Amino acid sequence: MKELKSGKVNLLDYTLNGLEEFFIQIGEPKFRAKQVFRWIHLNGASTFEVMSDVSKTLKAKLSEIAEIRVPQLISEHIASDGVVKWILEVGEGNKIETVYIPENERGTLCISSQVGCALECQFCSTGRQGFNRNLTAGEVVSQLWWANQSLGHTPKEEKIITNVVMMGMGEPLANYDNVVTAMKIMLDDNAYNLSKRKLTLSTSGMIPGIDRLKNDCPVSLAVSLHASNDEVRSEIIPLNKKYPIKELMAACSRYLSASPRDFITFEYVMLQNVNDKLQHARELIKIVGNMPCKFNLIPFNPFPNAGFESSSRDQILQFQKILRNAGFITTIRKTRGEDIDAACGQLVGKVNDKTKRQEKWRTIAIQQVSSK
Ligand code: SAH
Ligand code: SF4
Repeated sequence: MKELKSGKVNLLDYTLNGLEEFFIQIGEPKFRAKQVFRWIHLNGASTFEVMSDVSKTLKAKLSEIAEIRVPQLISEHIASDGVVKWILEVGEGNKIETVYIPENERGTLCISSQVGCALECQFCSTGRQGFNRNLTAGEVVSQLWWANQSLGHTPKEEKIITNVVMMGMGEPLANYDNVVTAMKIMLDDNAYNLSKRKLTLSTSGMIPGIDRLKNDCPVSLAVSLHASNDEVRSEIIPLNKKYPIKELMAACSRYLSASPRDFITFEYVMLQNVNDKLQHARELIKIVGNMPCKFNLIPFNPFPNAGFESSSRDQILQFQKILRNAGFITTIRKTRGEDIDAACGQLVGKVNDKTKRQEKWRTIAIQQVSSK
């Protein structure tokens, strides 16, 4: 397990099994690990002091070698539609974003997996920003830990966060081991007890990762398709040159054999005059063939110097109609949290730019979470 700069290990990096092994290594019984694991994830503990059923001696021993290191809150922004965005720092100025999207029956948390992204999709502001580093497993799962804390909830109570989507900054399958570890913690009933159906990983199409995920941690899968042929897709998603559409479709079919859902969700960002012709919709129908799938059409969220515009509402509706008429469930993603730049592809990119919008953000707190 990776040691922190402090020389201490971060207990948030461990699955329950991993923590049990760690406890055995330090000469403690296994069941103690479960107690501590539940304190951290079910009760939101970030210090050993609060763990009332853990002996003083063990607390002292743990404090020497380990910590529960959660990210530092930079700011919290609440949009008029109830969407909450947290900007968190994970050390050395590296900032990530986590977004909470409340809906009638559910609450969805959008989690980041990397600081930046190396894949350079043309329409994505994270991609434009470049890649800094992978998040550790603890940094990934602590976004869920943090959101529960901040929303005043512990997962022990009725869930306020019912769904998690790995759709924040970064390509989750490019940070495979840490993301899978974090997702295993999210699924654990001694922690957040999410169901595999309600945990969705979104990928730009890293085929080897899709195949591994099927065996290691089959959760719901969303694939950022965004084009109906290789020519357009390679133009806007450079990774397509390595993993072209036909091979991607085959990987999706393989994934379905293990998937908790009986369909793949294809995300399709609507870019005016790039991928939004009705001919493209017809092409899409051909490339997915008989695969059980749903389409989610995403109006493009603009950012400075993007060089793309969103398709018109009317064009999106016509595109949707063609897919629906062919029998595919096709939704149009509602843009949420617009007044705080919490929508897809806008994450963190604007942190440093002084736009008028930013002035509207309500900065609630700048505080050291661990000092809570
Ligand atoms: N790297 C993963 C997950 C993070 S991006 C992936 O690419 O799937 C989450 C979703 O937002 C993806 O479908 C991505 O293509 C989409 N997206 C990125 N930039 C966008 C933008 N400017 N407007 C709308 N959707 C965008
Ligand atoms: Fe990375 Fe996803 Fe953005 Fe592409 S769309 S650059 S894979 S975060």
